Amino acid sequence: MAATYTALPPSVMQDEPCPHALRQAARAPQALAQSEAVCRAQRVRLTPIRRKVLETLYATHRPLGAYEIAERLTPPGGRMAPITVYRALDFLIEQGLAHRLASQNAYIASFHMASAPGTTAFLICEACGGVDEASSTELTHAVNALLHRDGFAPRIKLLEISGRCAHCGGGAISRA
Ligand SMILES: [Zn+2]
Ligand SMILES: [Zn+2]
Repeated sequence: MAATYTALPPSVMQDEPCPHALRQAARAPQALAQSEAVCRAQRVRLTPIRRKVLETLYATHRPLGAYEIAERLTPPGGRMAPITVYRALDFLIEQGLAHRLASQNAYIASFHMASAPGTTAFLICEACGGVDEASSTELTHAVNALLHRDGFAPRIKLLEISGRCAHCGGGAISRA
């Protein structure tokens, strides 16, 4: 049965349980509580709309576009303006609670808000839509050395790598 899923583009797939989905469901409540703590510590307000957008991001393991978020938050018979969602997303990104994946034009909730501000690589699976956050001191050092050499002042240090996760059959490919 699993084979029929992978034939579909991610946008068509439902949130069927892949390891990413299970992990997301398991850690979402704690991450949401942690986000609230971050806002309290920063003395910024997690308003109802900001919270709803964050909850929507935590409710799935796939990156969501702003319009998709607006759609999920629209009450029956109501309307949610995308600008409202964009404003909430700006706030969440500013606070380090969410990230924008430029290659996907979509957003994901952060799970490493408390960790040191190093370089993070987002491993984006094109089959199941799952996104893994990977970082290491070696990666951070290597990127810092490159930036230093070029005298480049980074605003966002975020790498995006698209492909296939181990679960979807990526592990066997390319060790070159
Ligand atoms: Zn997955
Ligand atoms: Zn995958």
